[in-house]
Amino acid sequence: MTESGPLDNMLAQMEDAREYVDIDDGIYERLQSPERTLSVSLPVRMDDGTVEVFEAYRCQFDSARGPYKGGIRYHPTVSQEEVSALAGWMTWKTALVDLPFGGAKGGIVCNPKELSDTEIEQLTRRYTEGIRRMIGPDTDIPAPDMNTDPRTMAWIMDTYSVYQGYAVPEVVTGKPTEIGGTDGRVEATGRGVAIITEETFEYFDTDVRNADVAIQGFGNVGSVTARLLDERGANVVAVSDVTGAIYDPDGLDVDDVLDYVAGNDGRLEGYDAGSISNDDLLTLDVDALIPAAIEDVITADVAERLEADVVVEAANGPTTFDAANVLEEREIPVVPDILANAGGVIVSYLEWVQNSQQYSWELEEVHRDLEARITSAFDETLAAYEEKQIPTLRTAAYTIALERTASAHEYRGLFP
Ligand code: GLU
Repeated sequence: MTESGPLDNMLAQMEDAREYVDIDDGIYERLQSPERTLSVSLPVRMDDGTVEVFEAYRCQFDSARGPYKGGIRYHPTVSQEEVSALAGWMTWKTALVDLPFGGAKGGIVCNPKELSDTEIEQLTRRYTEGIRRMIGPDTDIPAPDMNTDPRTMAWIMDTYSVYQGYAVPEVVTGKPTEIGGTDGRVEATGRGVAIITEETFEYFDTDVRNADVAIQGFGNVGSVTARLLDERGANVVAVSDVTGAIYDPDGLDVDDVLDYVAGNDGRLEGYDAGSISNDDLLTLDVDALIPAAIEDVITADVAERLEADVVVEAANGPTTFDAANVLEEREIPVVPDILANAGGVIVSYLEWVQNSQQYSWELEEVHRDLEARITSAFDETLAAYEEKQIPTLRTAAYTIALERTASAHEYRGLFP
């Protein structure tokens, strides 16, 4: 059975929250589709001299609360539907953690593993040219997402700046620190996930120390989450990437795994530990399961067999709607993506603020601000969950996000 895709999932999540929010029907309808999506075809000269054309998108979902904000991903499965869902999730995320932003997302349909650095640079610059009329420091501010990083952001910043005729660092966040990036941005999403996981254990009267944790995905988010949870005393018993999963019931030596991956082209393949399948990892009997890769990995079938006490969503949209219903029935709590992975966009906001003031903060200040904002969103979500007796943490988080966004629309009204 095929389950619905990310956009249907996002719309169904909104619908679940609707009965708990006093929201005008017209505004609700408006919030179900993005404000605009630009689709671009990008001809790129490849290293062998041929020209290849790539399809790409930038979706601007909602801007009632401020400039559009959201990452750009490079992946073969990128589609217009996927960027719309991801742009919607950015809208609810920035509203939930109360940043003065709306939501957006972009993506290029490509397999970066098959492209050389020069080809990726050409593709990135051509994409920036394609979307440069719709982005800008006060309109829409991109950032890294899957398979994009500070290097990619530097090319976007440079291309945009060359057309403007002067340096515009605040047009993107997640830049290298040498050109206006902030300390702490690269690890911000993983740091937020680790903070939220610790808070979640506390809420359920357990302790992060000696808790068994399984992490699916070992890219930027998964690997930083593993390191920070290990530092907090958790047993990271399993991690995985596209090459497979490794497992040690006594807890992996996370520093050793990180060193190995750093010297092995970013891959876990060949690491000396018990090897299990990705499906086995998702159904391990652990205290917390942290999906940190792509959408729709926890399907209804996986949810039926899932043994973790709690799921903390580090990826965007890792749980299908059907799976979420199964987990609710089985009383396995899910800490939703729009809360758990908001650390990245929070520190993006801090970077943008510093750029706007031509000023830079100490790392400790960035850490402190991130922790204060994300824990306050966690507390607000729990308060809504308990006070309104909302069935899931996700629906509780959505009620806050929808209320804030709808209220901004209400005040601003319709024009023209
Ligand atoms: N791509 C990240 C996310 O999904 C960060 C977006 C940003 O910093 O704008 O939340």
